[in-house]
Amino acid sequence: MENFNELLQNNNFIKKAHEFSKKAHHGQKRKNSEPYFNHCVAAAESVVSWGLDEQTVAAALLHDVVEDTPHTLDEIKGLFGEEVAFLVDGVTKVGMVRYRGIEAKVENLRKFILYLSQDIRVILVKLADRLHNMRTLYAVHPQKQKRIALETTEIYAPLAYRLGMQRLSGELEDLAFPYIYPQEYKWLIANVKGRYEEREKYAQKFKPAIETMLTDNQIALTRIDSRAKRYASLYKKLLRYDMNIDHIYDLVAIRAIVPTIEDCYAALGIIHQHWPPVPGRIKDYIALPKPNGYRSLHTVVFGPDNKLTEIQIRTAQMHDEAEFGIAAHLAYQQQKGTKNYIERKVAMADKKELMWIKQLQNWQKEFTNTEEFVQSLKIDFFKDRILALTPKGEVIDLPAGATPIDFAYQIHSEIGSSCVGAKVNGKIAPLDDKLSSGDMVEINVQKSKKPSASWLDFVKTSHARNHIKAALRQSPDSFIKEPPKKTELKLAVKNSIGLLKDVTGIISRSHIDIHSVNTQGSEKAPIIKIVIDVLLKDKLEKLLAKLKKLKGVETITHRAF
Ligand code: MN
Repeated sequence: MENFNELLQNNNFIKKAHEFSKKAHHGQKRKNSEPYFNHCVAAAESVVSWGLDEQTVAAALLHDVVEDTPHTLDEIKGLFGEEVAFLVDGVTKVGMVRYRGIEAKVENLRKFILYLSQDIRVILVKLADRLHNMRTLYAVHPQKQKRIALETTEIYAPLAYRLGMQRLSGELEDLAFPYIYPQEYKWLIANVKGRYEEREKYAQKFKPAIETMLTDNQIALTRIDSRAKRYASLYKKLLRYDMNIDHIYDLVAIRAIVPTIEDCYAALGIIHQHWPPVPGRIKDYIALPKPNGYRSLHTVVFGPDNKLTEIQIRTAQMHDEAEFGIAAHLAYQQQKGTKNYIERKVAMADKKELMWIKQLQNWQKEFTNTEEFVQSLKIDFFKDRILALTPKGEVIDLPAGATPIDFAYQIHSEIGSSCVGAKVNGKIAPLDDKLSSGDMVEINVQKSKKPSASWLDFVKTSHARNHIKAALRQSPDSFIKEPPKKTELKLAVKNSIGLLKDVTGIISRSHIDIHSVNTQGSEKAPIIKIVIDVLLKDKLEKLLAKLKKLKGVETITHRAF
């Protein structure tokens, strides 16, 4: 993408913002004793590298002027126009509430959501600001470091991920990692660094072979490179593989960029002809993109010397979208000549990232309880996602660990509420089954069925939870209670010791399971209490009749529970 210095030479608007900010911050220093203005330039450089428009670049240069210098927002408005002033104001307001205590956090998150839906460029400048703050975090007081790093992994990195900006999200996580997990980070460096170098060398040898192979088959390779897995994501993966680094095949992955989608599939076939794939490791994210919109083909092959290596194949457009997400969509609209931000936004309305923002905006209105809001936000919007399918092939986006009930509610609240059963990949599955990506889920419904209170024990999404609670509130009597499992019989008898054997004898001869037997009451009026399996009405009546015939049994009461 574009280069900041070039832009500065050729664009007078940006030049003006650059000069104004430089003067405004004159004499101010950062914690690392660099001039403060360097920070503004760094933020602007990021925004330029994401391909954003001149208003956003100017706003990045000016983002700290109102907060940290005597200049006012009105001045900015007068000099740079309404749009830049709005962006600067937004960035300032989003940053106002610091990460202290749950209330402040929630307030901040609500502002994030507000600006996300109003003008996403506010958040993009904020992310550029955060990226540079993380890169210079070493200079900050140690007490503050961890708090800022935590806020970065809990809010900024997931946000960047959901906006499809994988490179940024990965870099933010990597920058935060050593501050949050210093021991683990040391371990990783000690154990993995050599391995990385070895794999990188191997990739360098492997690349020319793929290049030749594809060109021989008339596939014009746009470029081929290798990428090392980031430390933070490697660490997460290692936790799932018992810290065994031999099981990580994408430590260094090879990435081939080809012109068209057809070329992607053709290249995959050609590579598999030479190096056999590992079964189950071929992933077609082109046909079935990840929830954040990521598209690519992935495969793990037995490469030269029989080493397992991951290869990713995609087009240049897919690559840009994978790295820059929503920013790539915006840049594309700019290139097409859509000048106005509102128009660009409308043109991007079908993009996953924007749909997600819309969903987020509607969803936050449901919450009045702040604690619940943060928890749900973490699970519903920031947690790892899975994609399950309806029988018609529609993709349903859910948080990891979601169940068929969550799936049903995601389709429609009516379907969720009247769900009576589910099939996963053609087989009957329990309603609390944990779904995986690619599962095909079929929901059986029964009209007039009401949700069960027991669903609240296992549903994952707050969407399902809220609907179940609402339905239960509406008709507290009609919700399906758990069916009783046991029956308790209380026999008032004359002599418990002699009767006990007869009573239990009758019950076991009727093939009924006894859970417990107790005697209570006084010596004069003893009571035998027996807990048995719950019985259908007529079987229970037969049993009661038999017991009543016993000599010494006075009365019998029973209850199911
Ligand atoms: Mn800043």
